[in-house]
Amino acid sequence: MNKAPLPLLDNGKLDLAQVKNGILLLTFDDGRFETWLPQLELFEKFNARATFFYDKEITAEAADSMKQLRSCGHSVGLHTINHKDALDITPEAYYAQYILPQVEQAEAHGVRDISFFAYPNNRHSEEFDTFLSQYFSRFRAGTKIKAPKGYWIADFEEPYVPLEELAGHKVMGGCGIGPFYETTQENLDDALEKAAFENKAVTFFSHAILSEAKTVHMAAATLEAMLEKAAGSGMVIAGFNELP
Ligand SMILES: [Zn+2]
Repeated sequence: MNKAPLPLLDNGKLDLAQVKNGILLLTFDDGRFETWLPQLELFEKFNARATFFYDKEITAEAADSMKQLRSCGHSVGLHTINHKDALDITPEAYYAQYILPQVEQAEAHGVRDISFFAYPNNRHSEEFDTFLSQYFSRFRAGTKIKAPKGYWIADFEEPYVPLEELAGHKVMGGCGIGPFYETTQENLDDALEKAAFENKAVTFFSHAILSEAKTVHMAAATLEAMLEKAAGSGMVIAGFNELP
């Protein structure tokens, strides 16, 4: 069990000098807050923070869930109003048409300073990253790993970011969790062990958190097993808020 407080500096960022066993960055997409909020106690049990991305309209209810997540120490981000892929239009038009409406809706409901963005379907380019960096300080995308689904994550280096490179690493490439990605617990456990052993940050993404894993969604039991493994390995389990 990992009940030690996160090693944070006065500015709320991780004190990387105190991180010795890696960082687990769990991210969740598609605004499935009705499945996220029931897991707040589980995150709390492991002193774990995560990052939650919202697509669709930011309704009063969605904004309330953002406030609740933030009040529990979690990070929230945007994911476009209609799950629109980047790349098909200019970055300027993309922001104006698909992101700005969410920013305005969130602000209308009292949620400000949303600094993180997850690319729908993980599609992005350096041009988009550069343009959107004026609005967001960190992004979540996927990896460029060209391997069949179910690939052994720990066999690859791309998902692992050395701590000294974190500050300059603005696009976190995550590995998907859920039946669609054919992830097994053994694979996830080994992936976490590698991050802990090499003291690196590793990012994952999923969507809803359900009683049983389905398509791109993960099971609550998988979440608990990952939190248990990470905490037991001495990993810091953080959100994007805490990254340098
Ligand atoms: Zn999505």
